[in-house]
Amino acid sequence: MNETRFASVLNRAREARRAVGAFACYNFEELEAVVRAAETRQAPVIVLISPSSFQSAGGERLVRGFRAMVADASVEILLQLDHVSDLPSIERAVECGIDAVMADGSKLSFRDNLAFTAEVVRAVRPQGIGVEAELGRVEGQEDRTSESLVGEMTDPNEAEVFVEKSGVDCLAVAVGNVHGNYSGAPSLDWQRLGEVRDLVHSPLSLHGASGLPDDDLRRAISTSVTKMNLNTELRAAYFRCLERELDPSSEALDLKRLGDRLTDAVQQVAEAKLDAFGWTAGDG
Ligand SMILES: [Zn+2]
Repeated sequence: MNETRFASVLNRAREARRAVGAFACYNFEELEAVVRAAETRQAPVIVLISPSSFQSAGGERLVRGFRAMVADASVEILLQLDHVSDLPSIERAVECGIDAVMADGSKLSFRDNLAFTAEVVRAVRPQGIGVEAELGRVEGQEDRTSESLVGEMTDPNEAEVFVEKSGVDCLAVAVGNVHGNYSGAPSLDWQRLGEVRDLVHSPLSLHGASGLPDDDLRRAISTSVTKMNLNTELRAAYFRCLERELDPSSEALDLKRLGDRLTDAVQQVAEAKLDAFGWTAGDG
């Protein structure tokens, strides 16, 4: 079967020993920031749409709006519906123009996760939609930083069987990475990551790249992690900027200026991450 666009972007990055930045965007300021960062670094990027965004009122419009906004970008920008656990939502998102899904069966048993993931691949691959799945379970919560979900590390042998049988384009690994803030210094299980790498042929993704030092990011890329999911650090930059810029005494109510500042703040973080992921302007 032909390679999906999603797989092609990841495979090209892997050959160049880089990682594709996958940035969660909740609104148009964030999306604009990520598009600008991608263009300045000439880096292909993936825009993540959270299931909570997609499933809320206006979610379909958001995806169609994002699709329209990235259409004239000078680099390849893919849209991915993140962490979704049901096929009807995935099919709806495909109709809205997404390029890839993260089919999240990580809360299921190995067998049920495999069955769910394989079903998603069968349903959407013929339309050229890329599929990522997760084995083990990344701790934490995607949209917020306060709650946590207890994780479970990826078993390398299970990962090998899972990727072969499901036919996914990319596997998200749980090797000590967490969604949201790390409670102490992050400590990734490098040995486990290396074992997964040796057994699994598809590109690997690391969720919860926020809070990992650049050295860890680079080491993960040299261990062949090809997709880095980032959410918390973008949101943190957004809120820090909002706090700075909000002046209750101001009567200007200058929404354009506020939007520009927010976009700048998020763009800076995205650019710094793309640098750490191996992209520098002009050689993408
Ligand atoms: Zn995630």
